[in-house]
Amino acid sequence: MKKMLDFCARLCYHGIRKGKEIVKMTIWLDMDGTMADLYGVDGWLEMLRAYDETPYAIAKPLVRMATLARLLNNRQRDGYRICVISALSKESTADYDERVMNAKRGWLARHLASVKFDEIRFVPYTYTKNDANSGNDILFDDEARHLNAWTGTAIPAANLLTALKALA
Ligand SMILES: [Mg+2]
Repeated sequence: MKKMLDFCARLCYHGIRKGKEIVKMTIWLDMDGTMADLYGVDGWLEMLRAYDETPYAIAKPLVRMATLARLLNNRQRDGYRICVISALSKESTADYDERVMNAKRGWLARHLASVKFDEIRFVPYTYTKNDANSGNDILFDDEARHLNAWTGTAIPAANLLTALKALA
């Protein structure tokens, strides 16, 4: 944690210089287990296996959403791109994927209404999230496989609010 915060404090720019151009740095946010308590929904796994998207819609927030919204809006004002990267259910059909995406979009609109995300990207369950990393992007995630494979700055979900604050 200390090391991570030191690293964040040393980040004195919010972009990567590519030739003359400054490319904005992206903050990617996972949803399930990072912002949304999917795994706290009673019977979530059985429901997803039965192609029921309800758990995504009714998951409770994992952090205080008013605080998260304020921090995301502040970082966006600082120049970061604020993006969501969220996996679809392991069970997948075109129709179910569509319903899952709608449930997730609805969750974001309801709980983070004031945040205008630069991008909301839904990816297949087996997707390697680092494929979305444009170089030195920042990822907030709860899964070790995504954090370990990330070649930019990977921050565990438990540090979501403190690290977003430290990026100022
Ligand atoms: Mg997750």
